Amino acid sequence: MSDYAQRVLDGLKARNAHEPEFIQAATEILTTLKPVIDKHPEYEKAGLLERYVEPERIIMFRVPWIDDNGQVQVNRGYRVQFNSAIGPYKGGLRLHPSVNLSIIKFLGLEQILKNSLTGLPIGGGKGGSDFDPKGKSDNEVQRFCQSFMTELYRHIGKDIDVPAGDIGVGAREIGFLYGQYKRITGSYEGVLTGKGLTWGGSLTRKEATGFGLCYLTQAMLQANGKDVAGKTVVISGSGNVAIYAAQKITEMGGKVVAMSDSNGYIHDPDGVKLDVIKQLKEVERKRIREYVKAVPTASYTEGCSGIWTIPCQIALPCATQNEINEESAKALIAGGVEAVGEGANMPSTLEATAAFQKAGVLFAPAKAANAGGVAVSALEMSQNSMRLSWNFEEVDAKLKDIMIGIFHKVDEAAKEYATPGDYVAGANIAGFLKVADAMMAQGAV
Ligand code: NDP
Repeated sequence: MSDYAQRVLDGLKARNAHEPEFIQAATEILTTLKPVIDKHPEYEKAGLLERYVEPERIIMFRVPWIDDNGQVQVNRGYRVQFNSAIGPYKGGLRLHPSVNLSIIKFLGLEQILKNSLTGLPIGGGKGGSDFDPKGKSDNEVQRFCQSFMTELYRHIGKDIDVPAGDIGVGAREIGFLYGQYKRITGSYEGVLTGKGLTWGGSLTRKEATGFGLCYLTQAMLQANGKDVAGKTVVISGSGNVAIYAAQKITEMGGKVVAMSDSNGYIHDPDGVKLDVIKQLKEVERKRIREYVKAVPTASYTEGCSGIWTIPCQIALPCATQNEINEESAKALIAGGVEAVGEGANMPSTLEATAAFQKAGVLFAPAKAANAGGVAVSALEMSQNSMRLSWNFEEVDAKLKDIMIGIFHKVDEAAKEYATPGDYVAGANIAGFLKVADAMMAQGAV
């Protein structure tokens, strides 16, 4: 690592010692930026990296709401507006009990580079709360979302900050949030993405992250003389990203044999029946263990990490951060994995990533591989501004172009600045250069 980047990382560790996920993400990014920093000594004089790793603004707030028993509950809300050098802040809201400032900051830092890679004019932000929508009634979720927006509305806007969904935030939550924003401000504007199709949403948004992951994974395989067709695939998670990744990879000729939720995983060697998964997860909001009732030839195992011991050629982690540690990576390598495409944000630990790269596994990092969601969110913003709607095929075609474009940018940056095939470095460098240019041009702000 360059001296400058190392000093910035040391300072960041000292100031944020209690934020392990944020440190993990910053370590990976700063480590791989060495060739760029060496080439641009002017960055140090401009304090570019110090500014880059410090959010422009952090908003933390109380979210009081009343549960169905009439009891007041209090959660903590966050919005980290990280970097607006290339456009308004853009990034999802996560509702999960594990949410804390470290997780929101790591997601925001990653989001800056991801958004830059899409080639669209969007800055980086992220937010959420430690509220757990699981087990709550629709009315409780509604009251929480209204309370959350009652504070958030004053910090966001269609040209300021445009949140979207993430873990625990789907169509239902975006609806409640949007309704409250509109009620408070009286303004019908594209302030959130992931909206319903009858009120400003974009076709293909629901599918975008999963589909985009498959388009990029296919581009990576094909650039290396391989193809999705005929491959056995393991996908973790069974939420928005996982479901549509499973759908598209199946259309491409891959066979998905396992999926999971936070309790355990199912193994269906005949190929996972996606209609059963969709019914369970999207309609009934049930646990994945119920799958074996509908498909008795499949098996269910309690616990998440065992899914990576199932032999496969393609692994698509689509659940959460750090779900693949070094041991799981080694199990995948032993099982013959040829390509990993990160659907979730930072699902591989630094050690796992190193193990994949050492073993020559094609590795598409999250900020490139899962950029499809935010890319279509930006297309939703464009449609809102123009007051028109593109059809499914139009948006899907744009998504595919963007994902293939991202792969080529990443591939070229890896060849020019790092090691050919090192898509981790390639993604960080390609994403960073655009943001760095804009920050240099705009002065020390
Ligand atoms: P969902 O809430 O729709 O689904 C998340 C899935 O992951 C569920 O199956 C959930 O199981 C499982 N999961 C959550 N936490 C854990 C955990 N600690 N251990 C094991 N499994 C867990 O979220 P998304 O599909 O939207 O998001 C998944 C990942 O993709 C996240 O990392 C997110 O940041 C990332 N992402 C999402 C985008 C999007 O457009 N939605 C865009 C880019 C990235 P359970 O139901 O049991 O909780």
